[in-house]
Amino acid sequence: MLAQGVAGIVKDTQGTVAVAGGGVIGLSIAWRAATAGWRVTVYDPNPIERSTSWVAGGMLAPMTEGWPGEERLLELGVASLRRWDEFAAALADFGSSVVTAHSTITVAADEADVRDLHRVRDWLDQHNHCVTALTRAELRQAEPELARSLRPGFAVSDERAVDNRTLVRALAAACAAAGVRMTPHRVQNVASLHEDQVVVATGPWTSTLLSRMPVRPVKGEVLRLRKRPGSPDPPSATVRAVIHGRPVYLVPRPDGVVVGATQYEAGFDTQVTAGGVRDLLADAEIVFPGLSEYEFAEAIAGMRPMTPDNLPILGRLDERVTIAAGHGRGGILLAPLTADAVVAELAGAPLDETKYTDPRRFRNCHDKCDA
Ligand SMILES: Cc1cc2nc3c(=O)[nH]c(=O)nc-3n(C[C@H](O)[C@H](O)[C@H](O)COP(=O)(O)OP(=O)(O)OC[C@H]3O[C@@H](n4cnc5c(N)ncnc54)[C@H](O)[C@@H]3O)c2cc1C
Repeated sequence: MLAQGVAGIVKDTQGTVAVAGGGVIGLSIAWRAATAGWRVTVYDPNPIERSTSWVAGGMLAPMTEGWPGEERLLELGVASLRRWDEFAAALADFGSSVVTAHSTITVAADEADVRDLHRVRDWLDQHNHCVTALTRAELRQAEPELARSLRPGFAVSDERAVDNRTLVRALAAACAAAGVRMTPHRVQNVASLHEDQVVVATGPWTSTLLSRMPVRPVKGEVLRLRKRPGSPDPPSATVRAVIHGRPVYLVPRPDGVVVGATQYEAGFDTQVTAGGVRDLLADAEIVFPGLSEYEFAEAIAGMRPMTPDNLPILGRLDERVTIAAGHGRGGILLAPLTADAVVAELAGAPLDETKYTDPRRFRNCHDKCDA
């Protein structure tokens, strides 16, 4: 049989694949698998607007988001970042441009906050990742609307940010163009699906489907603030700050910024708290005082799908079931690498880049696997 892929590429079909979950991970896999010749069906009762992917900030920031001890996550993130320009260009046919920033700068409020930034900078240096120390004058020139009291950290010139909502819409359109079927059903049991291959991409809900997989939800709140006439323009780079020990970030959008993010262990709770909004607004205004003139457009909470070692779970559970979950705070960043890895896994040739993400590292988990 033949399938029509994007850009008119026609490939032999490889068989059928069910993808459980239509967030950024499931849609990226479905799109890439369909263009590789698989007949793909995505199962999701609430695709797009109920997903974690709809909430996210959209930073592609493996370096400024990194922390000493997380070397494997850093390398995985950098491997995915390298794929992002091509991934975004291929999506350009399916909506407006997804990229909203091309670099990240870091800033701090006090001396202890600067020490935190220097620790990350030195660690990145040790691992041969190129960062540029900033002076106050350079910071002011790059982002004149940031508060004068801030202490400069460093800049990373090739970290990107994307509009996560434009992204998931473009992925859905790319899937449709590649012939992916969308089925609005919750998968209750992997064994009941009739496709040849099954990919589980159910984000923070993964352990409700595969109880042996230790993916837990970690709540995070973000704000969307919209520029009003006469208010200062949003920053052109993503700004990551440490404000008296608390991290906050501002991610540019064409019409404003996303401010994030809180972090709590709160199970499947996605209610926005007054305290979360207060802290985010207070810290963001210390970084960018002009934000007080912006429209308060939205406050929303989602759940990061976290694993015990903060690495995603990517690989085969058995000859029919592959898992792509547990992307934690970096699922938008890791989408292109994950899609490539799953398509390679389906073809029987796993990528070397994902050697540390094997689900079998959790084989000593006590509960039985439902697959
Ligand atoms: C506040 C916040 C800020 C973030 N910022 C960033 C960032 O700046 N950069 C970054 O890279 N990442 C960020 N993340 C992390 C990122 O959003 C996630 O890692 C990513 O969205 C996970 O994608 P996913 O497709 O695995 O899960 P989801 O997007 O949650 O999608 C899972 C889908 O599975 C469906 N589903 C669940 N159970 C079933 C079932 N049984 N059958 C069928 N379907 C099912 C759900 O309906 C859902 O649509 C952030 C997260 C949060 C919460």
